[in-house]
Amino acid sequence: MNRRELLKLSAISSVLLLSGCTKIIPKPIIHFIEIEPDVKLLMPDSQQERVVVVGGGWAGLSMAKNMKKNAPHMDVILLEQRSQFFSLPTSNLWLVGAIDMEYLIRDYLQAARENSYTYINTTVIDVDRDDQQVITSHGAIDYDYLVLAPGIEYDYSEWTSDSRFARELQTLYPAGFLSSSEVLSIRNKIFDFQKGVFLMNVPSGNYRCWSAPYERAILMADFFKKEARNVKIILIDENQEIRVHKKEIERLFKKEYSDIIEYYADTKIQTVDIKDKKIITTDSVEFKFDDAVLYPKVKSSALLEKIELIDENGEANMNPLTNEDLEYDNVFVIGDARRMNFNRLGSTALSEAKELSQRIVSKSMKKEHVWKSPQSISFCTIGIEPLRVLSTQGEYKYDFLKHRFNFLEKDIKKIVKKGEDDNSLYEWATQSFNELFS
Ligand SMILES: Cc1cc2nc3c(=O)[nH]c(=O)nc-3n(C[C@H](O)[C@H](O)[C@H](O)COP(=O)(O)OP(=O)(O)OC[C@H]3O[C@@H](n4cnc5c(N)ncnc54)[C@H](O)[C@@H]3O)c2cc1C
Repeated sequence: MNRRELLKLSAISSVLLLSGCTKIIPKPIIHFIEIEPDVKLLMPDSQQERVVVVGGGWAGLSMAKNMKKNAPHMDVILLEQRSQFFSLPTSNLWLVGAIDMEYLIRDYLQAARENSYTYINTTVIDVDRDDQQVITSHGAIDYDYLVLAPGIEYDYSEWTSDSRFARELQTLYPAGFLSSSEVLSIRNKIFDFQKGVFLMNVPSGNYRCWSAPYERAILMADFFKKEARNVKIILIDENQEIRVHKKEIERLFKKEYSDIIEYYADTKIQTVDIKDKKIITTDSVEFKFDDAVLYPKVKSSALLEKIELIDENGEANMNPLTNEDLEYDNVFVIGDARRMNFNRLGSTALSEAKELSQRIVSKSMKKEHVWKSPQSISFCTIGIEPLRVLSTQGEYKYDFLKHRFNFLEKDIKKIVKKGEDDNSLYEWATQSFNELFS
């Protein structure tokens, strides 16, 4: 019996109670009635099986499209709180004026039109997994399958336990790994910054896009150099060494941009003093700055926490091989919100969602489905004129003894003539946008 049926029963119990028939019912269940909100349906019930996808990022868009493609008979609904898509991949290039904003922005309605699913611009505030119902700011929607792809949140808890101060840090020194407003703020900071110390950091753990903080430092150094501005970039890295493309990035830091970039490995921020504009490290070293971009650790979306789909380590409580919720077998988590199985990348999310759409079709047909690894592709731009890009790609293999995935990574070999642009990043991004939107 699910909660909705239980509510019906409790309603009958209370009617019986009021009509004086209590003698035959020793303990009427009346308390459920008090907590049932009067939620209107956002979408009427469907005769078709319904898949509701929460979050229209790389994972959710790919999920909605491929679900409809693999199962045209299903009713697919994408719920996204934003009214337009903004791509974080390639956004570092926009920060320094190398590409136009139009390249990063896409239209959700086009994606829904061309791929025959329903997009609703709304925020999911709760999920009732007993009743198979998603509660949004505009009403409720019933589902047969639910795919949660709400991405990540910042976790400032290592720097402060005061949520108001965390919010202040995000406002003053946004990381630019979540929203378009943050990225816009950083671009304005860069364009307005005439001289002084610009401080940035690299967190540890499975933060979003490992190469992006190094890429940002290099592109900003290139920008300031060309503009002949008297700027120093301090990059504080919590990791023991550069996480990706170590040799080449180290060479750029030490040779090409040694006059602009100061890099500190194995250095952890303990506190941020916004009054005196300085950070203090765990080794009590102080770094003063004029402006900053501070990237805290990341964790899975607050929505998962709210619906208690999080384990004691703060990770999605899901089967790493099937993406299924451990308690409810019609609920799935994908993209950067998942357990820390894979690198937090759009490419991983896109291919993982393709695979999950096939798994759901097999499940609905009561067929077995064999696990297939997602593909991760990551780019790091290290020069604008000509365009120079480092890239890696890889797949995952599950280690059943250690209960974790190993990443089998390899550098992408390319033939690009000296002095010519390496367009592989744009080729990948354009192809991915086409995959998601048209
Ligand atoms: C500078 C930078 C460079 C990058 N470069 C690369 C790269 O080269 N290659 C690569 O593969 N990846 C790259 N990435 C990483 C990539 O952007 C992320 O891994 C990807 O966005 C993850 O997709 P997602 O769908 O899981 O999460 P997101 O893209 O964050 O999408 C989550 C969506 O859910 C929505 N949402 C959240 N909560 C709710 C709610 N309650 N109700 C409704 N909607 C909700 C959000 O609005 C959002 O649209 C880069 C990232 C950055 C910042």
